[in-house]
Amino acid sequence: MAYSYDDQNIFAKILRGESPNQTVEETEHTLAFADIYPQAPVHVLVIPKGPYVCFDHFAAEASDAEIADFHRVAAKICADLNVSPGGGGDGYRTISNAGEAGVQEVPHYHMHILGGRPLGRMLQPAS
Ligand code: 5GP
Repeated sequence: MAYSYDDQNIFAKILRGESPNQTVEETEHTLAFADIYPQAPVHVLVIPKGPYVCFDHFAAEASDAEIADFHRVAAKICADLNVSPGGGGDGYRTISNAGEAGVQEVPHYHMHILGGRPLGRMLQPAS
């Protein structure tokens, strides 16, 4: 696997405190904050603090502690924001775009958590 991480991306700047964010949750390994252009009433981005480009980079190279923490934070947000079906919420969707075909805009791994309205089908048919 050959990923090179661009530390000038906007999420790297947020992690360094050079750009503001609306923090939802923060731990030793993970930061979660509101998406600046929300696509749903709940739209939170969960990012690892480490320099990982996308999902498969993170899953292959992050430590077990980073991976566990990331997912625990994501689950806590689903519960705290009342979208978890297990807690009586209506449900949510997690999305992680990677690379060109995945239309990833920011090259720092992130998971979108979307909810608070019916989200429609996962993908539109190709046109
Ligand atoms: P991607 O297309 O890479 O999966 O999603 C990147 C997301 O980052 C988009 O939903 C976009 O609205 C969000 N975003 C881009 N720049 C900023 C920023 O400066 N602050 C925050 N909070 N979100 C951002």
